[in-house]
Amino acid sequence: MSYIRISKEFHFEMAHVLDEYDGLCAYVHGHSYTLIVTVKGKPNTDKNSPKYGMVIDFNTLKSIIQKEIIELFDHSLIVNKNAEWLDKVENIKSFSRIIKLPFQPTSENLLLHFIDIITPHLPPEVTLVQVHLRETNSSYVEWLYEDNK
Ligand SMILES: [Zn+2]
Repeated sequence: MSYIRISKEFHFEMAHVLDEYDGLCAYVHGHSYTLIVTVKGKPNTDKNSPKYGMVIDFNTLKSIIQKEIIELFDHSLIVNKNAEWLDKVENIKSFSRIIKLPFQPTSENLLLHFIDIITPHLPPEVTLVQVHLRETNSSYVEWLYEDNK
């Protein structure tokens, strides 16, 4: 039985700011992000299983990403928790949905963070092989299993 890749695509709005960055992303701004998560596995061969013929139920993959990533990060502001100005804005109500992470919230670092969150929730019969995070129409980052094994 061949391996098959299964992907699920998500869309969410998120703001970030790059502390001490030497360009426009040093200012708080948002993006309409697209996240595409791809896993690999072999289709279920158990004719008595409700998941017969599936690598993973699309709904299973959807609910993992929805619960662990989208519900948390959608309409949030992501900041580097080491930013010196952070204590000045923490009490402003508009910033109440703020997520402080121990790194610069670039697309690259957010992608790796999402992978760390997703991986333990995947069922053992599938392997995470590709994660794609699109920040704008012309800019995206990708992680591939084959680049990192
Ligand atoms: Zn940005």
